[in-house]
Amino acid sequence: MAENCIFCKLASRQIPVQSVYEDEEFLAFHDMNPQAPVHVLVIPKAHFASLLEVTDTDLMGRGLEAVKQTAKALGLTAEGFRIVVNTGENGGQTVSHLHFHLLGGRFMQWPPG
Ligand code: 5GP
Ligand code: ZN
Repeated sequence: MAENCIFCKLASRQIPVQSVYEDEEFLAFHDMNPQAPVHVLVIPKAHFASLLEVTDTDLMGRGLEAVKQTAKALGLTAEGFRIVVNTGENGGQTVSHLHFHLLGGRFMQWPPG
């Protein structure tokens, strides 16, 4: 657990959060500032500052599986969804704890506006 990391606090339930999916290693919850009708964050419970800090490549595979399970739980699989992993400054990453954005509920324009 990293000190002063908001997502570590949510993962450890130091700050209460309503999960939409959870397993031993990952937690999914609604983004507080949604950019789509469905906007959920899927995070590893362990702290990694970003994708660049992950050395266990299997963790990313398990993370994508957790995203898929979350999408299923939210009923997004028929119409589809988008996954985004913002990384670093130019990636627009604002929270330094690895997270997958799961976006759906409307057509996801590409390139994004
Ligand atoms: P980033 O810009 O780092 O890729 O995404 C961080 C996301 O976390 C943003 O979409 C922001 O709205 C969301 N966020 C930041 N703090 C909190 C929080 O305390 N609770 C929730 N539910 N979402 C948060
Ligand atoms: Zn953290």
